[in-house]
Formats: sequence, C-alpha cells, structure tokens
Amino acid sequence: MKILTAFLSLLICAEIFGQIKVSTDYEGANAILRKIDETDIWIKPDLRDTDGWWFYWNMEVYGAAGKKIRVFFENDDAIGNQGPAYSLDGGKTWAWLGSNSYTRPGKDNKSAYFTHEVPSGVSSVRYCFSIPYTLEDFKDFYAKLDGNPNFKMGKLATTLRGNDNFYVSAGNKNAPVKIVILARQHCCEASASYLLEGILSEIFSDTPCGKFLRENAEILAVPFVDLDGVRAGDQGKSRRPHDHNRDYSSSPIYPSVRAIMERCASYGADDKIIAIDFHCPGWRERKSYFYYPANPRLSENVARLASMLEDNAKDAKGALPYNTKNDIPYGSKTYNSSNKSSFRDYINALDNAEIATTFEFAYSDTLGEVFSPQKGRNFGRVFARTIAKYIRSMNEK
Ligand SMILES: [Zn+2]
Repeated sequence: MKILTAFLSLLICAEIFGQIKVSTDYEGANAILRKIDETDIWIKPDLRDTDGWWFYWNMEVYGAAGKKIRVFFENDDAIGNQGPAYSLDGGKTWAWLGSNSYTRPGKDNKSAYFTHEVPSGVSSVRYCFSIPYTLEDFKDFYAKLDGNPNFKMGKLATTLRGNDNFYVSAGNKNAPVKIVILARQHCCEASASYLLEGILSEIFSDTPCGKFLRENAEILAVPFVDLDGVRAGDQGKSRRPHDHNRDYSSSPIYPSVRAIMERCASYGADDKIIAIDFHCPGWRERKSYFYYPANPRLSENVARLASMLEDNAKDAKGALPYNTKNDIPYGSKTYNSSNKSSFRDYINALDNAEIATTFEFAYSDTLGEVFSPQKGRNFGRVFARTIAKYIRSMNEK
C-alpha cells in the first residue's frame, strides 16, 4: 500500500511540475531522443537504414502545456522553411510554427532549434518536419468516398513487413489511355500525398473533368508505394540496399514495386501510358517541378503537360503556384543519367509510354505560397484537370 501511495504521489508530482516527456509510440513517428533538460529537448532524426543524412522526424511532446520549450537538433539542422509542423489534436490537424520559430546553426552553435510557447490546457503537441499524411489520413479520405461507385480499391501486394498494400482504380478498362500515379516511393515525402488525394477527388467526382477522365482513361493509383516506411516513420529515401525508386529492375526486391511493374507490363501495345510519380524535392526547396526524360518525343510530351499545368495553375484559386521555368531537363548537371532503375526510367523504356515523369512537390512553400493540406489538394484538382486537357489534345492529334 505504501509503495502504491508513493507511486501515486510521484505521478501527481510529475503532473504538478509537468515533466516533459517525448513519445514516438505511434504510426509515422521518428526521433532519437538525446536528452531533456527542463524545457529543452534534444533530438535527432532517426536515420535507421538510410544511406547518408536525411531530415524526417516526427514526435509527440507531453507535459509542456503552458511552457515555452526549445527543441534542439543535436549537431544537426532538420527544420524546414516554415519551421516544424505542429498538431494540438494528436495529429488530426496541422499548422506550421512559422519562419520565426527557429534558429539555424551559427558559429557557436551547431544545433538548429525551434521555440514554441505551448498553449495551456493541451495534453500533448506533435511536431514533424513537414505536415504528415498517414494511412489514417487516407482512411478518412476513403471513408468520405464510401459508396462512391466510381471508386475501386484492391490489394496490390503483401509488403516485406507483412502489410497489405493497396491500389485505387477507376475509369474505363477498354480506354487506351492508362494513367498510373504513384506517391510515397520515398515514404517521408508526405506533401505529395495531398496532391495525390486532390487528383483522386477530382477523378471520383461528377465534375466534367472527373467524368471525362473515367470515360477516356483507366486509372491506377498507388498512394503509398513504401507503405511499410510510411507506417514506421522511416526516411525511405536512399534506403539500403536501395530505395523503392531504384527498384524497377529485372529483379525488384519490393513486392509493391513488382506488382506495379506487372500492371504496367500488362497494358497493350496500342495503349498509351501516362505515368506520373509524385515526390517532394530537397528539404528546403521552394519550388515544384517536373523532370523531363531523355527521349526527345517523351520530353516534348512532358513539356506540353507542364505548360498546360502552368496555365491551369494560374487560374486556380486556393491552390499552389507552378512555373515551368523550374523544371529540370535531361542533360543538366544534376540529371544526366537515366539508368537508375527508377519508375520514370522504367516507363520511359516502354514502347507504349506517352508520359513518364516525376513531379517534385515542395514540402513547405512554393514560389512564395505557404503549403497547407487544402492548397495541396486544390493543386491536385488542377493537376487532374491538366491531365484531362492533355488527353483531349492527344485525341485531337
Ligand atoms: Zn522522392
């Protein structure tokens, strides 16, 4: 009894003095806790099987209500342009802490840190490198579509860690245009998922664009190519021995990649594949852009799609901007090898490729516009309308 009383009073003390605790005990979490010194928390991104440095982290802080805390990245800087994203409701909704919330490493201090005056009354705060998008977020989206006859889901593959990965499909099986859209080949690149969700919203809707796409194309989407990594909170980029987007070879090691390749290989010789792989660019890049393939015909096709996207994005309200000037043509300093077993290179080598590209969608801000989930989704809707416009132009040719 005495022991129990002592234990209870310890718990009460912890509550009164508000001991700060850090948790990574939830899906998508990632952090190595170094120390907690009163209101200073020291962490590092957990690199796990990453080859080299990367910047994804995601943690929950308890016991900080009403306090001003500082979160240091030990000898590291893993803070994006808009500061960390934070959530006061256990990860349901997120906002940015803002560009005034952090200090980058200086001469005397190698550790970047951010400061937050945590509102009183909250039980915890989640912080993340960028605004996350988890399997739960997709389930919320899916719940809204329940009963929508335009929407089908199926099993893609059992992953290496035993998760059932899935695809989403829609449209007309007999249509010669096959749209294949992927996200999260690099699992930490969450902003791209909002874009993908926006595209799917448009495809499943009864807007003229949705109807057109379903009549004139068969659509296959894989929202989480590296589902294992999304759930575990891995970096995913440069995963050893190679990451998902280096696996499109004659002997893929990831079951989801193998299944995607089988689906793409099953399309007919007269079909036209429009394949777009959605990623996020460098951690602090403030622009979104396409990669143009090496093949001149295919490069021209991507350039046409890109210029249509620029036009459509100009007229769109509440979406993020896009400008073709930031696109990366093949042969540039950073992009001159196309034999990396990426999805894009794999599709580009197929005779029935019409479009095979990667679109890099900025994490936190694009050409001066700050990212929000809604703006990401709205940009996805613009993207879907652009694909529809492109298909119309194919039909006119
Ligand atoms: Zn990527």
